[in-house]
Amino acid sequence: MAVKFASVTTLRGLGDSFATKLEKLGIYTKLDLALHLPSRYQDRTTFTPLEKIVVGEEYFTQGIITNVRNSTTNNELLVEFNDDSADAIMRLIHFSPYNVQQFQIGKWLRVYGQLRRGRQFIHPEYRVFSQDPGAPDPYYHPIYPTTSGISSNRLRNWILQSLPELSLLPRYTYAGLTLQEALATVHEPDPKRELQDTEIARKRIAFDEILAFFLLQRKLNLESRRGKTFSFSTENNITDLFLKNLPFELTDSQRNVLNEVEEDLRKPVAMRRLLQGDVGSGKTVVAVLASLRAAGSGFQTAVMAPTEILVEQHFETFSEWLEPLGINISLLTSRMPAKSRRRSEEAILSGDNLIAVGTHSLFQRNVQFKNLGLAIIDEQHRFGVHQRMQLRGKGNNPHQLIMTATPIPRTLALTFYKNLDVSTIKELPKGRPPIHTSIHSTNQRQQVIDAIGRQLLKDRQVYWVCQSIEDNPESKLEATESVVRELTHKLPDVEIGHIHGRMKTSQKSSIMHKFRSGKIRLLIATTVIEVGIDVPNASIMVIENADHLGLAQLHQLRGRIGRGSIESYCMLLYDPDPGLSDVARERLRAVQQHRDGFKLAELDFQLRGQGMIFGVRQSGTEHFRTADSSQIIEFHADVERVVEELTQSDTELGQRIIDTWTSSDPGYVAV
Ligand code: ADP
Ligand code: MG
Repeated sequence: MAVKFASVTTLRGLGDSFATKLEKLGIYTKLDLALHLPSRYQDRTTFTPLEKIVVGEEYFTQGIITNVRNSTTNNELLVEFNDDSADAIMRLIHFSPYNVQQFQIGKWLRVYGQLRRGRQFIHPEYRVFSQDPGAPDPYYHPIYPTTSGISSNRLRNWILQSLPELSLLPRYTYAGLTLQEALATVHEPDPKRELQDTEIARKRIAFDEILAFFLLQRKLNLESRRGKTFSFSTENNITDLFLKNLPFELTDSQRNVLNEVEEDLRKPVAMRRLLQGDVGSGKTVVAVLASLRAAGSGFQTAVMAPTEILVEQHFETFSEWLEPLGINISLLTSRMPAKSRRRSEEAILSGDNLIAVGTHSLFQRNVQFKNLGLAIIDEQHRFGVHQRMQLRGKGNNPHQLIMTATPIPRTLALTFYKNLDVSTIKELPKGRPPIHTSIHSTNQRQQVIDAIGRQLLKDRQVYWVCQSIEDNPESKLEATESVVRELTHKLPDVEIGHIHGRMKTSQKSSIMHKFRSGKIRLLIATTVIEVGIDVPNASIMVIENADHLGLAQLHQLRGRIGRGSIESYCMLLYDPDPGLSDVARERLRAVQQHRDGFKLAELDFQLRGQGMIFGVRQSGTEHFRTADSSQIIEFHADVERVVEELTQSDTELGQRIIDTWTSSDPGYVAV
């Protein structure tokens, strides 16, 4: 029997609205909270004397308040403090009358935050004491990746409250630790050990996840050996008609890949094929052709994509190309109005619509196909490994075509996707324009805006990408809302659009539609546009705070331009205060110099090694929650050995390890 972990809503003070926010982080249960690992630690073991502090670094420090200035004109509160070695200032932009009272000359102020220019800590974490509070309780304070509306500290509280529940986890020991012990170490590191233990604990956790993945693969391999399914005829002329109407010729690479797919579809054995192809290589048309083969034999196709915007786009592309041929398409997302959703579900159940395009909600229990013959999964790396595995079991063991732009080396692909055949589109369509990529400090902001203004006059379209929606004094990231204000003011004649993930589906699709049709010329967007979006006339992209994005993400984002026939420009912006770290600079340079995703993936791999912040490695890359795909190689031998052991001697334990990593998301069909 699978052990059930309590829902997060059983925690005190955690209501539905927080629960909805946590879902965005993939957190549903107390176990999910515990598996949400810190991105780094703040060192609170000692105070740094104020004479030693330098701009850009984070400090834990304290001193006596020497002056308090409450400027109503600037609407800011400045608190000066001194620790006998030097002065510093804490600046608050949001504050209450209570705060004004709280800071009195002679009291002690303890702050944790990043030092900015002018010896200022802007909205640091702080506490006021009436007397010398003495030495700190030395500890390392974990910082968690989070989502808007939930602070890292709040998340930390919930996580700590969830830890006792981990006694329910399987007590399997590896590297001297159980999973429970490893998680406790990562969330509450022992200050005496200076984080050495957390490195080991993280590896232990990653091992568990990779082990679960291989155990699951093994189980699925044993259960399903692909199984029998329907074979499709590839003899119909509907495809010829489609190709004749297509405004371009397939590349040789697309044609080869298509042949491989069609050969699979002719066989009565379920296809399991991974289609790799760099951003912009033209995977969609291959998917459309495969779905035509299914339709030609009277079978339905489910096309699944990870974001609503991408789903909408596929819906438009498929409709535009296939409706003239008399094939109807259904759209299905979880956020669409109940009525249209029901209508889609009915058309899918009756078989009236041969193709359904949707988010993962396509695979929820209540969606039933009349005769599903083919499942296509786009941008597969965006779905969790385990979730993907759970797609099986929908319909009659359909053929599966799995598409990804994440270039991983072939040897790794073979280890990783043992059960899949791999096809690769090796070239971009001919005549793709160059993308000129440049790096700018925001000191050059006005020049960038002027350049954009000139391009807009030439009828070009522009993406302007930010990583947050609202201004937030604690974060230094440029927000879409303030860029909208700025550019509306500076480029008054331009039709500007604004799009982000918190909008309603209908709003998003209307904005994307206007951008695609050219009504909107400049689209200010969050990274929601990162995957798959295809607007060939958009040839310019500005990326704010580009140094905060990973290499793979920058490559994906930039892949939105350089798709049509026009020369394209990508401008990567960074904040000169505190400037670029060495690794960030290398990363931006790599993007500037290379367009090939495989090359960038390789460089990414090399740079990752240097990306250690405080002993914490960047983890949770696309495939796993806590592990890094490179760790598959690292743990491979051990994992194979343990899989063998458990399969022989303790299948129940094996199943419980699988459950630990797959149980949470209620939306998916269980294996
Ligand atoms: P991705 O592989 O990133 O999903 P898409 O399928 O979105 O790429 O294709 C990118 C763009 O290239 C689309 O506008 C598509 O219509 C176009 N395209 C696809 N194949 C070709 C081709 N052989 N020649 C010219 N353009 C093509
Ligand atoms: Mg795509």
